[in-house]
Amino acid sequence: MSGMRVLGAAALCVAAAIGVGAQARVPDTPEGLVTAAKRAAGVDYSGTFLRICVAPDNLAPAAPRGGGPAPPVVPDRASWYAKPYKVFDNLYFVGTRIHSAWALTTSDGIVVIDTLFEYAIQPEIVDGLTALGLDPRSIKYVLISHAHGDHDQGAALLQSRYGAKVVMGAADWESTLQRPSTAVGGVPKRDVVVGPGGLKLTLGDTTVDIIATPGHTPGTLSYVFPVRDGGRRLMAVYAGGTAFNFPRRAENFAVYRDSQRKMTEMAAAAGASVLMTNHTEFDRAFDRVRLAQLPRAAGEKHPYETDTATVLRYFEMSADCAEAQRLSIR
Ligand SMILES: [Zn+2]
Repeated sequence: MSGMRVLGAAALCVAAAIGVGAQARVPDTPEGLVTAAKRAAGVDYSGTFLRICVAPDNLAPAAPRGGGPAPPVVPDRASWYAKPYKVFDNLYFVGTRIHSAWALTTSDGIVVIDTLFEYAIQPEIVDGLTALGLDPRSIKYVLISHAHGDHDQGAALLQSRYGAKVVMGAADWESTLQRPSTAVGGVPKRDVVVGPGGLKLTLGDTTVDIIATPGHTPGTLSYVFPVRDGGRRLMAVYAGGTAFNFPRRAENFAVYRDSQRKMTEMAAAAGASVLMTNHTEFDRAFDRVRLAQLPRAAGEKHPYETDTATVLRYFEMSADCAEAQRLSIR
């Protein structure tokens, strides 16, 4: 494990005023917030806007999406299987058509971000890495954005087979460790626990800034890390939980809202120009990773590259949508 170190995150000096005017500009009514969120979403995040501002999942009395037990049968492979792709110089897509999983390569091994449902771990992550010329035995860390089966069922296998350290938010470790040993995909052993202060995780030449963003689940984590595009260094922000499938209570929306505002500050401080999420519907990952395979004209941007203002609009939208829901609860 030489060369790896896990450092507690020092409090980041983030100037509160970095281009973030959401709180001031938004009228504090649900309707005003939804209008502001729609404007922030623009065409970039229209699907996400619909999902969390127009028809939030937890408006329905039951059956949240994304979490809960795994499907009892493996869905038809043609409905989910995606080939693996090299997307940036140091970032590889090993997800499905529906859920993202990524391999971030460093000078000292691989960091896997999210691990899909159990049925996808071997064909997508293990076989995908191998097809890309990467060695699954080089996986040193497995970052779980949150403890729902569509993102964490592969964690135990990567831990037990390759000795990778699993990194999860403290509250999500607690729920994970309560699962029965017969849970689909198994139960990972507790490795790296990320508390409310976050963590800077360094592997070789690469540091991932892990930020606690409770809301979607109590232990949801989001990330800021560098990607390289033909040698250019860009900062990527990975939003670790999006849908409103938690219990519909005002305090839960307040927690979610505050996490999104924190991410607005983190993204601004990092000068992030790449916004990623863990469901392909929210960042069009399955389209973008394939577009990234095409030759580009001189000066044409990578399909994932936008600009910091566009990245910030995602979090302004998600904060406004959460606040609109909070205010609509009586
Ligand atoms: Zn989830």
